[in-house]
Amino acid sequence: MFQAKAYGAASAKSPLASTQIPRREPAEHDVQIEILFCGICHSDLHQVRNEWSGFMPTVYPCVPGHEIVGRVAKVGGAVKKLKAGDLAAVGCLVDSDRTCPSCQSGEEQFCPNMTLTYNSPDKHTGAVTYGGYSDSIVVDERFVLRVPSNLNLAGAAPLLCAGITTYSPMRHWGVTKGKKVGVVGLGGLGHMAVKIAHALGAHVVAFTTSPRKVEDALRLGADEVVVSRDASEMQKHAGSFNFILDCVSADHDINAYLNLLGRDGNLTLVGAPEKPLPVAAFNLIFGRRSLSGSPIGGLAETQEMLDFCGKHNITADVEVIPIQKVNEAYERLLKQDVKYRFSIDMASLKGE
Ligand code: NAP
Ligand code: ZN
Repeated sequence: MFQAKAYGAASAKSPLASTQIPRREPAEHDVQIEILFCGICHSDLHQVRNEWSGFMPTVYPCVPGHEIVGRVAKVGGAVKKLKAGDLAAVGCLVDSDRTCPSCQSGEEQFCPNMTLTYNSPDKHTGAVTYGGYSDSIVVDERFVLRVPSNLNLAGAAPLLCAGITTYSPMRHWGVTKGKKVGVVGLGGLGHMAVKIAHALGAHVVAFTTSPRKVEDALRLGADEVVVSRDASEMQKHAGSFNFILDCVSADHDINAYLNLLGRDGNLTLVGAPEKPLPVAAFNLIFGRRSLSGSPIGGLAETQEMLDFCGKHNITADVEVIPIQKVNEAYERLLKQDVKYRFSIDMASLKGE
């Protein structure tokens, strides 16, 4: 074991603060990564504040962060995929049972025994896993991704969650040229969804509650933008969408969006608000519409997404911050005041 520098929360009411955490020495199949950038996902905030206590109660201290890019510092003797000095990335998963049907089919995100990057039981230490708000992490090579060399690293970090979480359901539901696709909520996930849906060739309509984001949405690749508080603008799109991806982090009316789906249209929730969302049955019955959810993505698809983003030169629009500004960043996230992802420059941890 060695000690790593990190930022973590001691309780649901505590701010994140400088701390030290144990990391294992790399075993045969492990890769030790010096973390360069880590994105701030709204899930980090939900988890730090124990807002998902009913599904995933938070174990403290909690060191969040699952949008990790860095440089390989050391590898175990059996590692083939990477060597010291290579760029590497880690997303939301650091292990799974590797034997269940989901793992066998390369969809580790559905493994009942998956190990999340933070706040999961850690098989190696017996404690809990600690995430990327840290100067290093040690991960089995199977769960380490390659970063296309043309991508800006601060902007590539958010691909590891915001990128794959939006890419995966769009691939699953057949987002391609000729499809009309809605993206609800222009935050970290939503702005990635707009970029990816545009690159997949769809006609993209962005829905935002923030009129000041309209120009940006068009620049990011939306063909049309609707300020969702305007009921008549919403009504113009009634019954017309093939697919809508809902990326909203807080309570909102999903019936307003179900109504915009065409026949057999699907609305997928990736946003995970704290409270349940009511659904009017007739909004699904008419038009045989469906409502579903989607979690992150498996390893193979995450690599596919990274390569797709490399090919199309897609990264997140980031505001790079030092780790010392993380608590301020959380408050700004709640005010929808980020364009469009915070990416922590981990060099700022050196002075702690
Ligand atoms: P974010 O950057 O904070 O973006 C959320 C966006 O939702 C905001 O920018 C805002 O967009 C909209 N919004 C916020 N409050 C709203 C309200 N009260 N009513 C209507 N719209 C509102 O968050 P994020 O990091 O993208 O994450 C979004 C959600 O996805 C979170 O709940 C997160 O936990 C979840 N998530 C799920 C997965 C998964 O695997 N399914 C993975 C990662 C994250 P506008 O200003 O444009 O309205
Ligand atoms: Zn995330």
